[in-house]
Amino acid sequence: MNKLPVNYPRNICAYCGSRGKLSDDHIPPKNLFSKPRPSNLITVSACTKCHSTTSKDDEYFWINLCLRDDAGDHLSARANWNSVLRSLNRKEATGMRRSFLSDLWNIQLRTPAGLYTGNRLGYDVDLARIRKVVERIVRGFYFAEFCEPLGLNNVVKVILNEDLQNAPKDFLEELNQTILLPLASMDTKVIGDNIFIYRYHRFVKENPIFSVWGLSFYGHVPFLCFTGTDSVCVENMQKSDEID
Ligand SMILES: [Zn+2]
Repeated sequence: MNKLPVNYPRNICAYCGSRGKLSDDHIPPKNLFSKPRPSNLITVSACTKCHSTTSKDDEYFWINLCLRDDAGDHLSARANWNSVLRSLNRKEATGMRRSFLSDLWNIQLRTPAGLYTGNRLGYDVDLARIRKVVERIVRGFYFAEFCEPLGLNNVVKVILNEDLQNAPKDFLEELNQTILLPLASMDTKVIGDNIFIYRYHRFVKENPIFSVWGLSFYGHVPFLCFTGTDSVCVENMQKSDEID
């Protein structure tokens, strides 16, 4: 349990495989961990191109995780609250603040019976941006665990809770039996005090590109991710119940 990867190559970019100028890239982004940061943070090498555009997305991702109802009780998420506010108040953060605050609005919370319970702050999350950060984390760990880049021609599909909210019951049951239960039996890898947890499973021996990942942040906020070629991803998901 919790054998984090260590012996992966450092001389190529974990995302695109190039050998240009490389620098360390934290997976998951280190801003998720409040200081003092845990000693077992993972870095992979990233080229300038794969590294450059990520910091604003990381910040958006982190702020959103900390604001989520299901993360609010985790000590580290709470400790991050002050940093969230500081971060939004920075002068340089004007663009970030504007885009984030534009997502915020006051919604009225009603109980199922329709009883008014007061105003609360709601926000519309930029899910594409969230997916982008999660995708990069999966690509990073794919490299760290399997010692080769997934490759930019292959895809990571990120499934959010929101995606499954309206899924039919029998689909969810199938997902549970064929994907989630086998995944839950795999080794749990933990970074920080349950701040980040992941598991992965390669279901199909003949197609090592196809893998399933479960990520969890702050003890809750879960993401289910698939790697594969664009078409194979869905196909294998449907077929995986035929495989031992
Ligand atoms: Zn790269």
